[in-house]
Amino acid sequence: MHRRLRLLGIIAFATASAVVLFFCDPTRLGIFPRCKLHQWTGLWCPGCGSTRALHQLLHGNVDVAFRCNALAILLLPLAGYFAIQVSLGRQPAMKPVFIWTLVGIIAVFSVLRNIPAYPFNLLAP
Ligand SMILES: [Zn+2]
Repeated sequence: MHRRLRLLGIIAFATASAVVLFFCDPTRLGIFPRCKLHQWTGLWCPGCGSTRALHQLLHGNVDVAFRCNALAILLLPLAGYFAIQVSLGRQPAMKPVFIWTLVGIIAVFSVLRNIPAYPFNLLAP
């Protein structure tokens, strides 16, 4: 019973989030929180552009979504997998090598997208 409720809660949250993201363009509406790291330092964090990317993805603009935040789009299936596993009450398979690989990928992405030269500037939103 708890698993079904948890699964329904996650599905309802994901659906509501998708509806809001579909109808609210983050580039035009100021309802989404701004990245404090970017505001304070001018640097792009690994999450910068992910809201815009999801908005574009929901509209079928895959290429624009990748330009906003390629890593967020690439990690979306993984996030979905974890959400489903958690909603089913399962412990997602997370070996240390997997976690450290993911941390490394995010760190490298964070550094590369802040290099103000081609082709790295393509990773900035
Ligand atoms: Zn950011």
